[in-house]
Amino acid sequence: GKVLVTGANGYVAIWIIKTLLEKGYSVWGTIRSDSKAAHVRSLFASYGDKFELVAVNDFTKEGAFDEVVKGVVAIEHTASPVSWSAKDPNELIKPAVEGTLGVLQSALRHGTQVKRVVITSSGAAVQEFGVAPERRVYSEADWNRKSIREVETKGEGADQLEKYCASKTLAELAAWEFFEEQKKKGYLSFDIVTLVPPYVFGPWLQEVKDPSALNMPNNFFYDNVIQGKASNESLANDGGQLVDVRDLALAHVLSIENAEAGGKRLLISAGNFKWQDIVNAARRYSAKIPAGNVSYNPESAEHLITLDTSSTEKVLPELHYRSIEDTTLGMLESLEKSGESE
Ligand code: NDP
Repeated sequence: GKVLVTGANGYVAIWIIKTLLEKGYSVWGTIRSDSKAAHVRSLFASYGDKFELVAVNDFTKEGAFDEVVKGVVAIEHTASPVSWSAKDPNELIKPAVEGTLGVLQSALRHGTQVKRVVITSSGAAVQEFGVAPERRVYSEADWNRKSIREVETKGEGADQLEKYCASKTLAELAAWEFFEEQKKKGYLSFDIVTLVPPYVFGPWLQEVKDPSALNMPNNFFYDNVIQGKASNESLANDGGQLVDVRDLALAHVLSIENAEAGGKRLLISAGNFKWQDIVNAARRYSAKIPAGNVSYNPESAEHLITLDTSSTEKVLPELHYRSIEDTTLGMLESLEKSGESE
């Protein structure tokens, strides 16, 4: 069957495309900037006409995806603005929400063969940031409503993180609302799955001309671990939850194959980390990495926030997460390829 992947030049999308092609699927990828197409094409040239790129220049336009959903059996919707410089929160919210609804509406009207739409949401749609630190377990039942309130009350003055979080939360809420509404009407021939990853790390295949311009959060890896910019205190105390981009890509593919996944919101996380854990992993492979906080003890590190992935384990039992060492090695190898860790 043929699968549509939106935002085909993105960090996560390229790994989804690679995983799909390796499993024998045909792939259509949508892309909006012509200048980024050549690199993606060259990555998958060996697959011949099993891989095609299609231009979707403005996905907020009514019917933008009408032509590209025809003949596909599943859709992986990853495209969404990832930016920390928006002035008006709507610069992020509008494309995030309208892109998601646009894909779903086109699938409803023209995707006669579509059985499943997988949407890349984010931990940003689950976890509330900037609240008083407390021990908390988040699950698929949680929504980051704080970010919506923040952009509603503060507008342009809202924190950049809250603007991004609000765009992801509102886009995912819109997808579920669409799904429930259409299901009730009995029109729907497909179901949806949303995947909720925290920080995505690991090797990158997209074009990266300068590692200081890497996507978030690989740019944090570059600054904190390679460049040694983080303080010892931050290395031992700051971090979060992570997943390897290759595991997230596999989760996207398993989510179209696994009947059980339909209608589910799935947290995809390998677990917690502090930055010093990644420093320590990196130093196993390269003595040139700055030592960071040598008195850090992973046993006594305090992880206040955890993501409960137990439902995902039941739905996607084939998904196994790479270790922090593996993920770190992948990033070091990508840097080496770009000539930076010389
Ligand atoms: P990238 O920035 O690498 O990819 C984003 C993709 O979306 C690009 O293809 C980009 O196109 C496209 N896009 C952005 N805005 C628009 C728009 N207005 N119209 C059309 N296309 C657009 O990000 P990632 O691969 O990291 O992210 C992919 C998805 O994963 C996103 O939905 C993101 O929210 C989610 N995610 C990512 C995490 C991470 O740590 N990386 C963590 C959790 C969730 P262009 O290159 O032309 O701008």
